[in-house]
Amino acid sequence: MRDLMQHWEMRVSHIIDHAAKYHPRRSIVSRDVEGSISHTDWAGIRDGALRTAQALAGLGIRPGDVVGVMAWNTARHLKVWYGVSGAGAVLHTLNPRLFAEQLVYIINHAEDRFVMVDPDLVPVLEAIADKLPKVERYIVLTDAAHMPETSLRNASCFEDLIASVDGDFRWVEGDERDPCGICYTSGTTGNPKGVVYTHRSNVLHALASNSADMVGLKSADVVMPVVPLFHANGWSLGYAAPMAGAAMVMPGRDMTPAAIHEMLEMGVTTTAAVPTIWLGLIAHMRANGLRLSTLKKVIIGGSSCPRAVIEAFQKEFGAHVYHAWGMTETSPLGTICSFTPEVLALDEEARLDIQCTVGHPPFTVDLRITDDEGHELPWDGETQGRLWIRGPGVVQRYLKFETDATDDDNWFDTGDIATMDANAYVRITDRSKDVIKSGGEWISSIELENAAVAHPGVAEAAAIGVPHEKWGERPILVVVPAGDTAPDKRDVLDLVGRSFARWQVPDDVVFVPELPHTATGKISKLELRKQLEKMNYSLPAG
Ligand code: ADP
Repeated sequence: MRDLMQHWEMRVSHIIDHAAKYHPRRSIVSRDVEGSISHTDWAGIRDGALRTAQALAGLGIRPGDVVGVMAWNTARHLKVWYGVSGAGAVLHTLNPRLFAEQLVYIINHAEDRFVMVDPDLVPVLEAIADKLPKVERYIVLTDAAHMPETSLRNASCFEDLIASVDGDFRWVEGDERDPCGICYTSGTTGNPKGVVYTHRSNVLHALASNSADMVGLKSADVVMPVVPLFHANGWSLGYAAPMAGAAMVMPGRDMTPAAIHEMLEMGVTTTAAVPTIWLGLIAHMRANGLRLSTLKKVIIGGSSCPRAVIEAFQKEFGAHVYHAWGMTETSPLGTICSFTPEVLALDEEARLDIQCTVGHPPFTVDLRITDDEGHELPWDGETQGRLWIRGPGVVQRYLKFETDATDDDNWFDTGDIATMDANAYVRITDRSKDVIKSGGEWISSIELENAAVAHPGVAEAAAIGVPHEKWGERPILVVVPAGDTAPDKRDVLDLVGRSFARWQVPDDVVFVPELPHTATGKISKLELRKQLEKMNYSLPAG
């Protein structure tokens, strides 16, 4: 009786086929790189993807070849997204904000044969092209009228290329375990590491992400990924939205609060981005008396979401926040904070506290917390430990590594420190490398930061440990003031003191005009520590 059901390779081309066949006219609105707003639908995206695949095959791209893509979130990018993997090639997402050396490293390491690039990002590649000997061809994602002059080798114009083929192409078939996409982790230390998603991992992950307690997209949704498609697999929205038959709004490259607000008002029901984007948008909406007329769901992850952001969306702007946690290595969704019956039974304030956790995992994700020796720790909401994850959307081995990234039972050490409570809600308290250890006890830098940004005079805050003779380390806060004048240090520390024991309250507040960030918008503590060293910072006496 074994194996009597159909075998259907889980390839991502099925996703775009499904969207184009059953939801062909669902609209895709895009702010294109030329500045104009364009309108297409899933049938149009599929047609463009087929033409892309056909054109790439015509230019010699073969199954397994790697094609780099450096582009903002636009309709064209969606065509390329499915066109590259539909040609059997591997889509390597390139973050234009990476340092030049990191871009050189990842393009060479992944052996990109072609690179497709938005016209405004051409200079980023021109600056490093002489260090990319293996890239044979560059395709600029624009039309003939906007094609820039460029020194890039064999540069061609995307719209001309796809107009030169007829779209009569069949997706390249293959095994569901074939590589589909590559995304490198930012690599705050050492070289970036490549995570190679398979077709299977992407399909399974999007299915899990679309389950009702998770991102849960529906055909009636209009989804706007503010998170770039090049950040951690685009949080899977490029797969989950067409899988659900949802409409999309693609915001393009303009990430100013005004532009994001304008695009959200195009009927968007679900959106997703890192907290800093939302801090900017909320300030802009407050300053200009703006509302959100259709938005229902805001997915926030990538770094810890301050409670004030959750409250603002829910109490002032009528959209519910889903605080999520994930990593490039986990496709990325690990957990999301939706309400189980135990949490629904709580009052509003207690639920808001729970929303500062990152929630619980979907089916396909397995979690545990352990001490440094690997012993499992209790789910009591108090005990902090290393967070481990396993499942079909989790990395097994980085690209070109000799050994697995997991232990023998497939557990992957996330490098995050977390607690879990009796309802399996995960609270991320730190990155293990950012942990502050004072007098042998851990102090959560994330919780200190979230407490500090609740002060109206604080725009952004970073908590770091500074060496101390007696205590090993003492925490300090490095703060970007919200206005022109810095708030009173004592005031900020008093506010923090309301939710922390006295020994956990930082010893000092240092004001800076800005904090250093990584290419994915996280505060770079490594860089910040270097800056403090340069300033010869020392703790106040006493
Ligand atoms: P990169 O290192 O390239 O920026 P990732 O997006 O893979 O890429 O970063 C994953 C890390 O981001 C996680 O391991 C965790 O430390 C942090 N992170 C993600 N979501 C959250 C969250 N909701 N709260 C706290 N930290 C988060």
